[in-house]
Amino acid sequence: MSRPWNFSAGPSTLPKPVLEQAASEMLDWHGTGISVMEMSHRSRHFCQIRDEAEADLRELLALPDDYAVLFTTGGATTENAVIPMNLMRRHKELAIDFILTGYWSIRSFKEASRYGNVKVAASGGYSIRLDGAEQQPWTWTPPVQTWSVRQNASYLHMCSNETVDGVEITEWPVSLPRLKVKIPLVVDASSNFLSRPLPITNTGITFASAQKNAGAAGLTIVLVHRDLLGYSGINCPSSLNYTNIAKFRSCYNTPPAYSIYISGLVFKWIKNNGALENMEKQNRLKSNWLYSYIDSTEFYSNSVHHASRSRTNIPFRLYRKALHEPFIRGAKEARLIQLEGHRSIGGIRASLYNALPLSGVSALIEYMKDFEYRYG
Ligand SMILES: *Cc1c(COP(=O)(O)O)cnc(C)c1O
Repeated sequence: MSRPWNFSAGPSTLPKPVLEQAASEMLDWHGTGISVMEMSHRSRHFCQIRDEAEADLRELLALPDDYAVLFTTGGATTENAVIPMNLMRRHKELAIDFILTGYWSIRSFKEASRYGNVKVAASGGYSIRLDGAEQQPWTWTPPVQTWSVRQNASYLHMCSNETVDGVEITEWPVSLPRLKVKIPLVVDASSNFLSRPLPITNTGITFASAQKNAGAAGLTIVLVHRDLLGYSGINCPSSLNYTNIAKFRSCYNTPPAYSIYISGLVFKWIKNNGALENMEKQNRLKSNWLYSYIDSTEFYSNSVHHASRSRTNIPFRLYRKALHEPFIRGAKEARLIQLEGHRSIGGIRASLYNALPLSGVSALIEYMKDFEYRYG
């Protein structure tokens, strides 16, 4: 039986060749007689898996050695606390500025407020209420020129792609406006990591949960400029201390070994399929196709401003709310799965990560046309 088209925002669809290779190596990895799950993380076999994963990732990103690659755990959510804990001794008091563009940057803002003095440098929301009550939908990203960053900010946090709201920051600042000192940019890139070439060298720290576009859950990838190492506060667990993780090449303690292996296979799959340039090309094609179809109807809608529309996560609604349930039910019957929007906002969301091919988008649009024909 063929696999369904999987539009999950995460954990999400993986490339079939990756799953096939993992399956074929499950019982016996490269003649060792054991699976990757069963080998010591100190063994030369696992070190080889880790080294290749890191080398392939560096090659894909053209990442210079000024940056450490950390394979860690806890997810992007944990990084919101781990980052301030790792930068604590760089400043008398942490002053953390934020660009708010949706659900995840708000979550990060709230978590960071437990560790430092936080301030909104720019926001794409109209009436933001941080208590989580009523909010306007997030539909745009404030242009870099309007960001008002404090002179003494310890770092500036942004989320490059809001997975829930479908809002993407396409232009990352090279240097922050109106500032003489260089303030590190910290980017949560969980859901557009590896979807296109990203200017990671503009940042102090870029981090991503693997289970969106880069592998399986359990692994968090952190790319940190080495200048930022060595400032962790006393409250930082040593297993989450970037300096330790970097020094022990992600094996200070047991890393999420199997997830590192899966991501390593994903990196090779991307390399074999035209690298990030081709991922970008495909993702542009797929998302343009779906957006143009949505815009052409009076049946479906996406309210995000064109320039801020995400290429990986596309939320949309039916104008007639009562048709939501039948839409989702019919989609499942047509083997188009996990299209439900995030529980915080509802609606529909199609995530078009690297492993979801053009033919999957075509199947979705065919279904949407047919549904409109039947109910419109
Ligand atoms: C999924 C996601 C997170 C949370 O990831 P966890 O692994 O659940 O902690 C944070 N930020 C963004 C942008 C995400 O897409």
